[in-house]
Amino acid sequence: MIRNPCTTCRGKGVTHQSVKETINIPKGVDNGVNLRVSKKGHSGLGGPPGDLMVAVKVKPHPYFKRDGSDILTDQFITISDVSSSRFSLTFYSF
Ligand SMILES: [Zn+2]
Repeated sequence: MIRNPCTTCRGKGVTHQSVKETINIPKGVDNGVNLRVSKKGHSGLGGPPGDLMVAVKVKPHPYFKRDGSDILTDQFITISDVSSSRFSLTFYSF
């Protein structure tokens, strides 16, 4: 038993702390991918910190669907759009 445990960690040697980290999300990342962020994980007792593992869940988009690395969308176009060689599609910023 520790007689006078540290009040911050209560003798455990580690404390919980909220931190903000910016991580790079690779383009085209999909559900189920685990990203490893080196040395941003839990502290090792007397050792270096472990790696942080981030599980990716891609939120569904209201207008776009994924098919592998393709992005699909359904949009109505007019008959004049079809008959001209060029027409524009509406895209939504997100
Ligand atoms: Zn302490």
